[in-house]
Amino acid sequence: MKTKAVLKCSLKFSIVLLIVVFISLTGCSKESGAKSPENQSQQTGKKDTTNTSIIRDNDVNVSSLDLDKDGNLYQCEMDYDVISDKPGTCPKCGMELKKVSIADAKKNLDAYNN
Ligand SMILES: [Zn+2]
Repeated sequence: MKTKAVLKCSLKFSIVLLIVVFISLTGCSKESGAKSPENQSQQTGKKDTTNTSIIRDNDVNVSSLDLDKDGNLYQCEMDYDVISDKPGTCPKCGMELKKVSIADAKKNLDAYNN
């Protein structure tokens, strides 16, 4: 009778031991998994490239910049080579872009280049 009780006891103990080992193992894997977000902190500073993309070349086709075809563009009053189809700020001087017609944007750009 006594040996049976000892067997039961050791069985219980081994189950508890297994649970403890399992918990410590899953705890370990959680720790190593928590390190992955460090790899994702490298995609900053992309705003500059999208902003400078509205600085146009001298010979740009101004009417082709009107992507939504509403006849209007947004141009910096200081830098006429900064033309965007959407409202925004100038990447050169930080001024708010002014709404202008395609013809005006073209005229301004021509005057700016000459
Ligand atoms: Zn500007």
